[in-house]
Amino acid sequence: MIKAILFDMDGVLYDSMPSHVKAWYDTMSALNAISTPEDFYLFEGRTGESTINILFNRSFGRNATPEEIEKIYAEKARRFTELEQPESKPMRGAQEVLQKVKQMGLLRVIVTGSGQKSLFDKLDHHFPGFFDKDLMVTAYDVKQGKPHPEPYLIGLQRANIKPEEAIVVENAPLGVEAGKAAGIYTIAVNTGPLPDKVLLDSGADILFHSMKDLADTIEKIVREQSGQ
Ligand code: MG
Repeated sequence: MIKAILFDMDGVLYDSMPSHVKAWYDTMSALNAISTPEDFYLFEGRTGESTINILFNRSFGRNATPEEIEKIYAEKARRFTELEQPESKPMRGAQEVLQKVKQMGLLRVIVTGSGQKSLFDKLDHHFPGFFDKDLMVTAYDVKQGKPHPEPYLIGLQRANIKPEEAIVVENAPLGVEAGKAAGIYTIAVNTGPLPDKVLLDSGADILFHSMKDLADTIEKIVREQSGQ
């Protein structure tokens, strides 16, 4: 019986990935680190530290120091905030998915690698009444970023449910891997530029091309996964 839907945030509830990618690309390019915008779609879900160290090893043959990581991540966050002005754009169709999930009486849990301040206030502003402060997992709650299952396992704990009682909604390949590694049925919504194959190869159980398409089918998926 499905009891909760675990939602990733960037690229699922918010159309924020273009700004994240540009913020990362600008920040790393200014340091002469070698990257392409596509890299950051593939890295989505990793911790900031992990992303920086992959590019430092590729470009300079070493890990970044803790001081470098702190400074680089702060600059990336500053650039992201600048690009998202005046405010983040909710993803088209996200409101409809949430409405259907709420009508079915299911819990809504946020599982994000984002460490933005006042995340709950932002969510509650754009999606009023859908989320609960206690049902959120953010960068501050985990040691391991996606693709490690930890973020989704903590999400299950918060909702007090088992893997087979949940469904994950993800847009990123590493997010899909994390959901599957936690033993959860995982829906991929391909809202970015990566080929569908990348998400399917990561283990997605089903794939949609927009939250709007998912809104049309979410009730059927919940019934099927509940064995009805
Ligand atoms: Mg995402």
